[in-house]
Amino acid sequence: MSNPQFLSMDGKLVPYVDARVHVLAPAITYGATVFEGIRGYWSGRHDDCLLFRLDDHLERLAFSMKVMRFETGLDMPLVRQWIRELVRANGQKDEVHIRVLAYVSEGPNMYVTAPIGLAIASLARPARPADAAGMRCAVSSWRRISDDSMPPRVKCASNYQNGRLASLQARHDGYDSPILLSQSGHVAEAPGSCLFMLRDGRLITPSVSSDILEGITRDTIIELAGEHLSIAVDQREVDRSELYLAQEMFLCGTASEISPVASIDGHPVGSGAAGAVTTRVREAYARLVRGDLGHQDWLTPVYRDSLTDHA
Ligand code: PMP
Repeated sequence: MSNPQFLSMDGKLVPYVDARVHVLAPAITYGATVFEGIRGYWSGRHDDCLLFRLDDHLERLAFSMKVMRFETGLDMPLVRQWIRELVRANGQKDEVHIRVLAYVSEGPNMYVTAPIGLAIASLARPARPADAAGMRCAVSSWRRISDDSMPPRVKCASNYQNGRLASLQARHDGYDSPILLSQSGHVAEAPGSCLFMLRDGRLITPSVSSDILEGITRDTIIELAGEHLSIAVDQREVDRSELYLAQEMFLCGTASEISPVASIDGHPVGSGAAGAVTTRVREAYARLVRGDLGHQDWLTPVYRDSLTDHA
């Protein structure tokens, strides 16, 4: 996939190669960066690239900045405009993955809280193919960071060293992805995705106090399941051994979308292929993000000011 022509730095379009920060920025030396990953889906019907739940992502970015005590907030309506401008400047009429990073850009020590830089990248990234194989997952021996030390609810770049350690171990051991347990030994999440499993017709997902990122896709699925699929969802503590009882399981996130889990610690989940409920959730999600299942309040068009139906 080739690089986009432009990135946006502090609201200015800059050529890809010129999007730099100083090597001594606290963003680099101390990981003082918070970020968001946002997807845009191309809709033929609307003849536009639709950014999914953009305002919810920007709200979470503002929350991350607040918790990390970044001194200056961002003018989110302006950031919203910069994101749309960037996709248009790159002429991207396809599926995109947008990264928004807010970071402490200068300063001599660990305690500086300003100035804050803002970088936006819009990268071409196709949706996950429907027939992609299920993932082989393993419960990691690395535990999830916890709310009383490095809150997973905050999307801070340095938090990702935890998922990175677990992922590198899982890959070394021949698995596709780890599942991390919290410090209390309950199922938390995967490094970049939340987890759902199906037991006896009900979807179950670890509660938001299980040391997870409060996933926007997770929230979307809870709403989809209730509103469109008539499937009950329980949000609660989940034990490791319950994973082995699951009839279906999938991971979900903006980037990973809905990714079926084929096995966990070598135990097949159901038949090992994507189950019927997982497939229904995936199909409903694919329609929703392309503007084919209502919820227009969750969709921000890039090229037009409001959604237009070109059916
Ligand atoms: N957990 C972690 C640790 C993540 O990084 C992500 C990706 N943002 C998710 C869950 C899924 O969150 P979302 O659905 O908001 O992308």
